[in-house]
Amino acid sequence: MIDLHLHTKNFSHDSENDPERVVKIMEKKGFKTIAFTDHIEFNPKDPAYGDFDYEKVKELVEDLRKKTGMKLLLGGEIGYEPQLEETIRNYLKDKDFDFTIGSIHAVGDYFISEWVRKQEREGGSFREYFEILLKLVKSGLFDVVGHFDYYKKHMEKDPVEVFEENRDIVVEVLEEVIKQGMVLEVNTSGLRQPPGEPYPSGEILELYKELGGRYVTLGSDAHRECHLGYGIEEGLRLINSLGLSLWIP
Ligand SMILES: [Zn+2]
Ligand SMILES: [Zn+2]
Repeated sequence: MIDLHLHTKNFSHDSENDPERVVKIMEKKGFKTIAFTDHIEFNPKDPAYGDFDYEKVKELVEDLRKKTGMKLLLGGEIGYEPQLEETIRNYLKDKDFDFTIGSIHAVGDYFISEWVRKQEREGGSFREYFEILLKLVKSGLFDVVGHFDYYKKHMEKDPVEVFEENRDIVVEVLEEVIKQGMVLEVNTSGLRQPPGEPYPSGEILELYKELGGRYVTLGSDAHRECHLGYGIEEGLRLINSLGLSLWIP
């Protein structure tokens, strides 16, 4: 089993996970490959701004690798906003990550939670989210698209409506993912959150497969010990049932 989306308290302010315990617990649970993917945010307004320290993470990962039989990968979850593209590109130039996840945590001047509530309150469209997602993929900066339909975490209405209304641009994004050789993440945190299904939904994964997509990663996006590996088996069943394959860096 694999879990390629884990946060630690050392480098993600919103996590309680002690990295050494994460390794012990995951090994005990029977995982073979895991990855630390702490927050790397470049927007000073983001609460995770400044959490990450590449040299220290690298040191930690190298130290823990000596203490475990599991494959421990050095990853990072980078918050993407179009105006940060050059900053991110410069940052990644001299870093040696095993892989990076590009994630949307903000839309324009709003954090995703605020933006979703605002759109629902005002009856606004969700298209801007997908336009940013398209830019994220086209930037070529990342290996993995994090939690593809993350907006649904904060939605009160049925997220299927958003998918149907924006199906054309969802197709465009997925085609670009395939063209760029990127990989979609199946993020199982949605199973323990209000959506009750992974990010992205089965419908989007099915569409990805239909369009020629093959590879996905799998991660629980754990911020606490009780989240470690949560939903991974269910995610794996979904991946297998759709005929998709796991990508491991
Ligand atoms: Zn995220
Ligand atoms: Zn995360």
